[in-house]
Amino acid sequence: MSIPDHQRKTGVGYEIRICRSSCRHSLVNEENLENEIEKIIIDSGISDIARNKPMGHLSHNRFKVSFSFCPNACTEPQIKDFGVIARALPYYSEGCTSCMMCENVCAENAVYVDDFPVFDMERCVGCGDCWKNCPTGAISVDPAYDVLIGGKLGRRPRFARQVARKESLDEVIDILKLVLEFLVKRNRARIPENMDELMDEIHKYS
Ligand code: SF4
Ligand code: SF4
Ligand code: SF4
Repeated sequence: MSIPDHQRKTGVGYEIRICRSSCRHSLVNEENLENEIEKIIIDSGISDIARNKPMGHLSHNRFKVSFSFCPNACTEPQIKDFGVIARALPYYSEGCTSCMMCENVCAENAVYVDDFPVFDMERCVGCGDCWKNCPTGAISVDPAYDVLIGGKLGRRPRFARQVARKESLDEVIDILKLVLEFLVKRNRARIPENMDELMDEIHKYS
């Protein structure tokens, strides 16, 4: 069994957990993403706010970001302030030889082959295994990034809620900036953070 290939970076007032593109399951080829996210977080001012909170050095005061480069979600985006899960959503293009490989590799029973593959997108998690293993290139994929916000552990744990599905990382980064801007403004004005209002803001933008 291979060890998931991801890393954790902790700075003053923030924490980033992110996959490496070298992981064999990765659907993302972005080795510089961690540095980009770190710069955005520091520039936003959220790390200073966290540092100046009572007990600001403790984990629960850090702004936590998680990027998972495949649906296995090893970086735990469901329990972070801001989480992302990359997916590859398959569809049939052309050239199927009915070899059955895609049906055999799909761990979710989300594809069956007749003369060509038929996908059950209710079951498909977007792992991309069918696409990677098709010997004729008959399967194509659309990239998708699910954005989750508001997850946390601690006394009152809460799973993050999905607020958007985007096609590009640039769009995901724009939402991250929006979230940070919202939280910084709220904290500076000493107004409690309100997840529902934040979600309304994101939906307006999206
Ligand atoms: S989430 Fe996917 S890409 Fe990231 S470490 Fe786990 S298996 Fe690898
Ligand atoms: S793996 Fe490719 S060629 Fe084989 S059945 Fe699936 S789509 Fe067709
Ligand atoms: S992307 Fe993954 S879950 Fe979806 S049909 Fe292909 S192998 Fe199955």
